[in-house]
Amino acid sequence: MQQCEANHQDCHQTSPLQAPTRLIEVSSIGEPLAARLHVSAQNSGNYLALSYCWGGPQRHALIGSKVSEYCISLPYSELPNTILDSFEVTRQLKYRYIWIDSLCMIQDDREDMLRELPKMNLIYRNADQTISVACASSCDEGFLKSRHNGLYRVPLPRLQPINERAWTLQESLLARRLLIFPGSGVYWKCDTICQSDTSSKPQSWEFQSHEYFYPAMLGEAWSRAVEGYSMRHLSFEGDKLAAISAIAANMSILFRCGYLAGLWRDDLVNGLAWEIYRSPEMPAIVHRTQSYQAPSWSWASITGPISFPEQHRRAIHKPAAEIELCDTSLVSERLPYGAVSAGTLIIRGYVNEVMIGSTENTMTTILDITLAQPTKTYMRLNLDDPSDQKLNTFLLLILFSESGIAVPKKTKAGLVLTKSSDENAVHRRVGWFDSFNESGPLAGDQWSQRVVTII
Ligand SMILES: [Zn+2]
Repeated sequence: MQQCEANHQDCHQTSPLQAPTRLIEVSSIGEPLAARLHVSAQNSGNYLALSYCWGGPQRHALIGSKVSEYCISLPYSELPNTILDSFEVTRQLKYRYIWIDSLCMIQDDREDMLRELPKMNLIYRNADQTISVACASSCDEGFLKSRHNGLYRVPLPRLQPINERAWTLQESLLARRLLIFPGSGVYWKCDTICQSDTSSKPQSWEFQSHEYFYPAMLGEAWSRAVEGYSMRHLSFEGDKLAAISAIAANMSILFRCGYLAGLWRDDLVNGLAWEIYRSPEMPAIVHRTQSYQAPSWSWASITGPISFPEQHRRAIHKPAAEIELCDTSLVSERLPYGAVSAGTLIIRGYVNEVMIGSTENTMTTILDITLAQPTKTYMRLNLDDPSDQKLNTFLLLILFSESGIAVPKKTKAGLVLTKSSDENAVHRRVGWFDSFNESGPLAGDQWSQRVVTII
């Protein structure tokens, strides 16, 4: 930590210093074990932050009726082990304050959440260090218990519970310095170095914030963050956009660009180019979110892992569609990176209506169908939601092709659409396709330009 403060140019504080609205004040070494809620009218000085898996409802969480009681004293003996261990680390590192989401935001007060959630970006960025409880999947487990026996050394598992939880991605990416407890040993990571107290080196460590925030292209940075995020577990689907909103807020400062239900206005064609990630080792459990989270063209309308296939085909593919209009309505204007209640996309591109009636019985979510000629031509449809397998007519809209906005020739990829049940002139996205014809366009492979509205 001293090394970092003295020598690391990249780690210097750049965001404005501002204390969180509330902090937990922890008793010092030598004093009786106690903690209380501290309402920080002004800058209270340096503090730590905690990033951990809730693992279910938090019975000790701060609610409106407990604020005055907690300002006198927290029910120390009733607090879960992870919280108590984080207090111990705070004490040992000679800090007075720690920020913990469940105790510093009033969980049953919508107004308070609306005020505090947009600040999470700065709360983690301004914390001196963030304690990342990587090893525990619930708050009762704690993380200091096995540290001192020292008889065995467990290699750092690739998948730690904390890396499976959606909310913690942004906590780890935004933190300036992380103190990571992976179950055995301690890792310390800042924007410059990553060190451990054992000889083992962390492998495939996800906490590499500079890889997310400093690539030249916004699209590349964002698609990597969203791919990682989509693999994680989210307890409430209503948090789909909220749990990545602090990363979005941070990127909007860096790239100065409008945000539309999880996509960037300056990078819309790339942002639309996502598909369900399916692999034999990891069969995807994918469906549209049960309640409305985002328009169908946004990855946020899907529960399950996604990828951005065009990121790897930049050398051969060029954008082939033009956005005429894209708009979303926010649930709350105060959460510009949070939930949306509606969204419309009007796009001009080459379309082709295809019928896939005969394959109904063998249809899986990934289809390989052959058009007019049996070889050297393929088309792959990757449907977003298995319930759309019953459809047999699709409208394909090219987003990328090797000929760009000129008449499409050999390779193309884009959106699979269907008429929205509400209104015939309006479409909704149901999947992603790519296709290849070695000899150029064939019969049945006729594309014409059109303007399409997608919701
Ligand atoms: Zn550093």
